[in-house]
Amino acid sequence: MFNSLSDRLTTTFKNLRGKGRLSEADVDATIREIRRALLDADVALPVVRGFTGKVRERALSAEVSAALNPAQQIVKIVNDQLVEVLGGETRRLQFAKNPPTVIMLAGLQGAGKTTLAGKLGKYLAAEGHTPLLVASDLQRPNAVTQLQVVGERAGVPVYAPEPGNGIGDPIAVAEGGVRHAVEKQHDIVIVDTAGRLGIDEELMQQAADIRNAVTPDEVLFVIDAMIGQDAVRTAEAFADGVGFTGVVLSKLDGDARGGAALSVAEVTGKPVMFASTGENLGDFEPFHPDRMASRILD
Ligand code: GDP
Repeated sequence: MFNSLSDRLTTTFKNLRGKGRLSEADVDATIREIRRALLDADVALPVVRGFTGKVRERALSAEVSAALNPAQQIVKIVNDQLVEVLGGETRRLQFAKNPPTVIMLAGLQGAGKTTLAGKLGKYLAAEGHTPLLVASDLQRPNAVTQLQVVGERAGVPVYAPEPGNGIGDPIAVAEGGVRHAVEKQHDIVIVDTAGRLGIDEELMQQAADIRNAVTPDEVLFVIDAMIGQDAVRTAEAFADGVGFTGVVLSKLDGDARGGAALSVAEVTGKPVMFASTGENLGDFEPFHPDRMASRILD
């Protein structure tokens, strides 16, 4: 059994306590521990290398502060670096100048997209918006019904294909949903899309076609926080195949370490915007990079 990232860093930082200033040897010993800890936390290897490289650079060039002891200084450098990679400030949704704002959800099957549609709808409705959920996941037999159930629980209307009226064509459904929103004066449209278990050309093309058809203001890439080393490959495939403006980390309730958050943010340069933390519709919040950094370092 390995120690958690937090435990490792805490031990490392304890070892530094009592020293007057940061020597290169101190910094390197620390970096070794941080590297090991991040790998244990399932942060992807290239991300670990880049991250620790920047921490090392900052640590060696840092002014020796009178106010902080060496351990505190390293903690601060690692913390600042984590916050920076995770997107800095909490990034809020960009709303269209001319409503409706279109938000498209993309990600692998089981990532938590349909659940997220309900969570986001409920969250935005509570802020005074009038969202509409659109069922463009026609891949899974139950996906439309699942979105209808989620919409009902969230108290948010759902636009779904009528049998014989465009069923089987997720692009037509997405376009129909946006038209419906204009007619009924919904100010936000949340488009749920299909995912497969693995990365798949056809799936990517379908998501890209939906994106081209409804030109969303935001494309949110939903990724399971438990995905581990696969986070980089999956995020890169969606970044290249569909493109996205922000990341939603789901199932954060199951992973205390947040390695995937760091990997995805670093390789795509896109901010993590929301965190999904459970199966209930209320288990959802804007992502705070500073809080995640503290949680990783706790
Ligand atoms: P989709 O295939 O991407 O639409 O994924 P779903 O929304 O159907 O979610 C897949 C499963 O993960 C369902 O059983 C959800 O209840 C569950 N799920 C979704 N989000 C979370 C979360 O944040 N935490 C936990 N523990 N489970 C979640």
